Amino acid sequence: MIPYVFDIKRASTVDGPGVRTAVFFKGCNLDCKWCHNPESKSPGPELALMTEKCIGCGVCKEVCIKTDSCVLCGECAENCPADARKLYGRKYAADELYKIISADIDYYSATGGGVTFSGGECMLYPDFLAEIAEKCAAGGISVAIDTAGSLPWSNFEKVLPYASLFLYDVKALDPELHRKGTGADNSLILENLEKLIGLGKYIIIRTPVIPGYNDGDELERIKKYCTDRGLKHELLPYHAIGESKKAALKAAK
Ligand code: SF4
Ligand code: SF4
Repeated sequence: MIPYVFDIKRASTVDGPGVRTAVFFKGCNLDCKWCHNPESKSPGPELALMTEKCIGCGVCKEVCIKTDSCVLCGECAENCPADARKLYGRKYAADELYKIISADIDYYSATGGGVTFSGGECMLYPDFLAEIAEKCAAGGISVAIDTAGSLPWSNFEKVLPYASLFLYDVKALDPELHRKGTGADNSLILENLEKLIGLGKYIIIRTPVIPGYNDGDELERIKKYCTDRGLKHELLPYHAIGESKKAALKAAK
């Protein structure tokens, strides 16, 4: 199954070491209360309307082909002169995606960077992910997988041969707190993490620090967990951008 991609960020310096291209797949199996990429949650394409940017020119209505409901053709977004409309979600064949990723190979080599597959949850698509990761690894591009880890181990097994780094989210160790914040149990997440550690994989644990949720004792517990296992730990700042994106998705409905 080929996933929809909602963003490709070239020259990223925040998605792993060095300069990287980050590819964001749509679809997520967690429901984090603080999600700053709500456009990543649904696996299908979605239209957004940033009402504050709209200049009321009416071009979107002129080009729209819908008779009843939106068919997500993207024409209005393509033609909007104010960049007020955006269609999130495009499919790329593995060859096409590889062409985009490999365009920056010299930057990766010079900085110790590579490609990062993220989301959403990129590991929901293990076959496609393994296909593109294999191409990248064969082309000399270092592959990082950004995952929340709530997946069958068999998904990991498919990408393990090609991944040189896992950016692994640990939002909470306490099971109840984890369930409260994400809607899901964390036992599988921690079980998979221990398996990766056992395999000696290069792992960077990443924790989004959410005020009032995990920024107190829980954060100290996560730090200790990482220290005890010799794992690098990065803190990700909370920002409220998700709210405006949610509003834009709602406005286009
Ligand atoms: S969304 Fe874009 S195309 Fe439509 S009226 Fe507003 S500015 Fe014009
Ligand atoms: S994406 Fe939807 S609203 Fe926009 S032009 Fe196509 S059918 Fe019309």
